[in-house]
Amino acid sequence: MQVTRTMEEARRAAGPPESVALVPTMGALHEGHLSLVRRARELADRVAVSIFVNPAQFAPGEDFDRYPRPIDDDLARCEAAGVDLVFHPTSEVMYPPGKPEVVVDVPAMTGILEGEHRPGFFIGVCRVVAKLLSIVRPGVACFGMKDYQQLRVIEAMAAGLCLPVRIEPCPTVREPDGLACSSRNAYLSGEDRRHAVGLYKALVEAERLIGDGQMDPCIVEEAMSQAMRAHQIEVDYAAIRDARTLGEVDMVNPRLEPIVCLLAGRLGGVRLIDNMVIGGRGT
Ligand code: AMP
Repeated sequence: MQVTRTMEEARRAAGPPESVALVPTMGALHEGHLSLVRRARELADRVAVSIFVNPAQFAPGEDFDRYPRPIDDDLARCEAAGVDLVFHPTSEVMYPPGKPEVVVDVPAMTGILEGEHRPGFFIGVCRVVAKLLSIVRPGVACFGMKDYQQLRVIEAMAAGLCLPVRIEPCPTVREPDGLACSSRNAYLSGEDRRHAVGLYKALVEAERLIGDGQMDPCIVEEAMSQAMRAHQIEVDYAAIRDARTLGEVDMVNPRLEPIVCLLAGRLGGVRLIDNMVIGGRGT
């Protein structure tokens, strides 16, 4: 496994686009990330993982400084998973000082939901992903459905800029009780970790209501909020949206249009998100 820290080395080591799949991450690798690596293995001869805690997607006061950076463990996990190349750049490599800032945005999708609660977040994500894609030049890049809005934004960015890459959505990996794996789960105290399952329970409740024929999105949204509050989770949002456009829906009818239930909430200052797609083929 090759570990590179500069753009030139990463590009050289990646090889021809059709042979390489990229898995962009911020490190602190868990089973969710490793499932993306396994999918990448199926899709290309060579797998590249990027590990970069991207300052551009953290607002002042968010957890950039305390975000976990266990790079030795991460490299060992990548090696064990058969990764060919790890690109682990410094901030100076990704954002050379003194160079004018470039902004990439998908305004129709980035001002809502996560974008409303974390202003500037998606601009930071688009900026780093666009750079990573043009440095490594993979034929395919794997992204988790765990970050559903991010996945949709990146798909729209890649399509809108005609980037020669296929964006591969990968299913959410969960802990045995249903909590979605996340690097931020490590911040949870024992008690908050027990309550955190409330996010998944809220999604299961939404699925049950919709399965029973509930078509009013407001009723399902309120049920999800209640389920979260029952687990001491402070609700940022609980929303039912069109699974493709993330637009609001007047009626829930997943047989006609797939919908996505999206949640964000806080437990002891730790912000967690989750989602579930209902209807369609999961995307
Ligand atoms: P992050 O390191 O949190 O930026 O995540 C890197 C990639 O891993 C993103 O595409 C995430 O959507 C994906 N990811 C994070 N958690 C999970 C999970 N539990 N299951 C599947 N993919 C995930």
